[in-house]
Amino acid sequence: MKRILTIIGARPQFVKASVVSKALQRVAEMEEIVLHTGQHFDENMSGVFFEQLGIPRPDIQLNVHGGTHGSMTGRMLIEIEQAIICHKPDRLLVYGDTNSTLAGALAAAKLHVPVAHVEAGLRSFNMRMPEEINRILTDQVSDLLFCPTDAAISNLHDEGFGNKLAQVLKVGDVMQDAAIFFSPRAAPPAGLAVRDGFILATLHRAENTDDPERLRDIVCAINKVHGEVAPVVLPLHPRTRNAISQAGLNVEAHLIEPVGYFEMLWLLAHSGLVLTDSGGVQKEAYFFGKPCVTMRDQTEWVELIEQGANELAGANTQAIERAVKRNYARKIVDSVHLYGGGTAAAQIANILTQVG
Ligand code: UDP
Repeated sequence: MKRILTIIGARPQFVKASVVSKALQRVAEMEEIVLHTGQHFDENMSGVFFEQLGIPRPDIQLNVHGGTHGSMTGRMLIEIEQAIICHKPDRLLVYGDTNSTLAGALAAAKLHVPVAHVEAGLRSFNMRMPEEINRILTDQVSDLLFCPTDAAISNLHDEGFGNKLAQVLKVGDVMQDAAIFFSPRAAPPAGLAVRDGFILATLHRAENTDDPERLRDIVCAINKVHGEVAPVVLPLHPRTRNAISQAGLNVEAHLIEPVGYFEMLWLLAHSGLVLTDSGGVQKEAYFFGKPCVTMRDQTEWVELIEQGANELAGANTQAIERAVKRNYARKIVDSVHLYGGGTAAAQIANILTQVG
């Protein structure tokens, strides 16, 4: 029996791990132990995802959140190292690009436990993003790199991975698996009264929330499109709520608490456009055939730009407003199956059983 230690800690990782955990349960000879770092800990940022997505209760629950990046990553590193020594996994499995991802990968690599990275190879080429640093370093210490897209494969090739012992494999995107699998359970958020065709907004990237000027310009754009295009529904990340209140900004939109995944799927399906700075939500817009305007200067999901499904508008009020007006209610068709069509988790589980 092979033992895998999965490290999760933040909202996007709960979504990604949910489908891979289910696929791992279907393959024999594989035991999964789940460690939750505690990076996200509120009921609406963590607990609800375990309930809705049927993720196994974490076998190991850490309580590491808050503080600087160095302090958070350092505390996780110490505790994950102990967990690896205690549970002796044959392999570590990490997702995405958070501090939990990097701490897990680093702890395992130093103990000579092989690391598999789901969502390997993505790059924004912006080293000021904490996520970019986490991804690059995690890829460097991984020996199994599960890439979601051709662009990710090509990035790793450019970084010389062709000459390394690591295996670089395109498997598609586990977030598409999750969207397909859970869509039948989509449900409207309680108490929200809006007609179909609203603009679904999410906002939480540090580059936007921690920069008062960018935050002000984005809020100004949201207020404008809320008044002139369609009502904006904005489930507010705790970091953004703090930043908005500290900056004394007034958001004229339907501000709601972060929603569960089933409610998010409903919002995606019933929206007329998605306005976001999230990584995952850009793709989810595409899965649901919705146009997306991304409030960032770069994206890792370059194929969406090439397909004309997504437009980068940065944090400039007028650029956002114009992009929303240009794209609102456009129909997007996934004619080329950019993200694998929902088979990523099964492929990952099969490969993990073969390589151990
Ligand atoms: N999400 C959610 N409720 C919310 C906001 C987001 O369920 O209120 C989901 C979203 O649909 C996606 C996941 O959380 O599947 C991760 O998105 P997030 O924007 O937090 O992370 P990123 O992808 O930017 O790292």
